[in-house]
Amino acid sequence: MGWEFETDPEFQEELDWVDDFVRREIEPLDFVIRSPYDLTDPLRNRIIKPLQRQVQERGLWACHLGPELGGRGYGQVKLALMNEILGRARGASIIFGCQAPDSGNSEILAHYGTPEQKTEFLEPLLRNDIVSCFSMTEPQGGADPKVFRTRAELDGDVWVINGEKWFSSNARYSSFLIVMCVTEPDNPPYQQQSMILVPTNTPGVNIVRNVGLGYEPPDHGTHAYIRYEDVRVPKENLLGPRGGAFVVAQTRLGGGRIHHAMRTIGLCQRAFDMMCERVLSRTTQGELLARKQMVQERVADSWIDIECFRLLVMQTAWKIDKYKDYQRVRKDISAVKALMPRVLHDVSQRALQLHGSLGASNEMPFSKYLIESFHMGLADGPTEVHKVTVARQVLSEYQPTDDMFPTQHLHKLRQAALAQYHDVLEEMETGAVE
Ligand SMILES: Cc1cc2nc3c(=O)[nH]c(=O)nc-3n(C[C@H](O)[C@H](O)[C@H](O)COP(=O)(O)OP(=O)(O)OC[C@H]3O[C@@H](n4cnc5c(N)ncnc54)[C@H](O)[C@@H]3O)c2cc1C
Repeated sequence: MGWEFETDPEFQEELDWVDDFVRREIEPLDFVIRSPYDLTDPLRNRIIKPLQRQVQERGLWACHLGPELGGRGYGQVKLALMNEILGRARGASIIFGCQAPDSGNSEILAHYGTPEQKTEFLEPLLRNDIVSCFSMTEPQGGADPKVFRTRAELDGDVWVINGEKWFSSNARYSSFLIVMCVTEPDNPPYQQQSMILVPTNTPGVNIVRNVGLGYEPPDHGTHAYIRYEDVRVPKENLLGPRGGAFVVAQTRLGGGRIHHAMRTIGLCQRAFDMMCERVLSRTTQGELLARKQMVQERVADSWIDIECFRLLVMQTAWKIDKYKDYQRVRKDISAVKALMPRVLHDVSQRALQLHGSLGASNEMPFSKYLIESFHMGLADGPTEVHKVTVARQVLSEYQPTDDMFPTQHLHKLRQAALAQYHDVLEEMETGAVE
């Protein structure tokens, strides 16, 4: 029997260390550092680099990577247990060397990169000496990559890139971008595009503006609207096969989606902890909020939602470890991806409501968490697209019936049952059997 829901005591010790470290050292950084990705910020480097060293000394750096890349090669179950703690604080994943989008970008560089690309881009990325950007979405549409128009054409030994990208996160801090470009316009739609590595300081990489999320001041945006204007990079900067961008992107997104979900558990739990503390502390009409049944319903619903979500994430992580094949767990990952924004949204919304005006204010983090729930429902594919994947795969496991009435039609089942037991029923009726 293999249905166990326990953590090994030795690994629990590591998790306890991580939990204490995140609460004590990392959570306060949100108030001190503008962006953990801004490597040009001396304050950021002064605080974050020593913390990264502590993580390395503890042997917990980049645990998602194999030892050949400086990690621990943890399976997804261990990563889930760790990431749900890291998810509590914005800066935690970069301090543990597993931050998006660099983790996904390093996965595809490790998988598809040439030795030269690994030296130039992967190695400094793994050390967090640089950060990177994944530049795929375009202003005219992100959910349907078939509408992307950014073109890369060969001019001798040089790719010349022209086009626009939208919501390229961290471009402003990045040293290089992985840009999805149409290189084979005559191929079938899913084989027209390729990934190309572009150093961000290449002439012609023009950031039109850095777009922010709803709660961010206008000058704090990190999601770049980029215009690529006659950007020239060597032919060797192609990452993966020509026309293979979709395959390369899938390598990156499978792991990325489940890691986002693991971290989101931590955020949900944080909102839930605040909700519980508040309802046990605040009175109205002479009694604690916690004694009111509609409040209790919110607490119960939130606990149930988080628990179901966490179990689905853990089970999916377990399946990834078992099958080692992202294609085989596509339905599960899409289900996790579709559930994640709903749980974060609902728990944050309930926590906000139960904190009253304070909850709606910028003195509590709930409006940020709510926007974050939309981030989780959009980035790496909108919820609707993932639900379609779940439904298609689920339905592929069923068969239609040719009959006018369903196979579980009660009338039909009753007739069949009566026919099956006809002899016994007749004997009972005629009294032939006691
Ligand atoms: C915080 C954040 C960070 C991001 N970071 C990056 C990044 O680093 N790099 C990058 O390339 N992109 C990034 N994105 C962009 C993200 O990938 C896109 O937002 C996403 O793919 C959706 O594309 P879109 O925004 O153009 O929405 P659209 O394609 O215009 O879709 C809008 C809406 O239409 C609906 N819809 C779409 N398709 C379907 C369908 N098949 N069935 C039913 N309804 C549908 C959904 O409600 C969807 O949200 C980021 C987005 C966010 C919010």
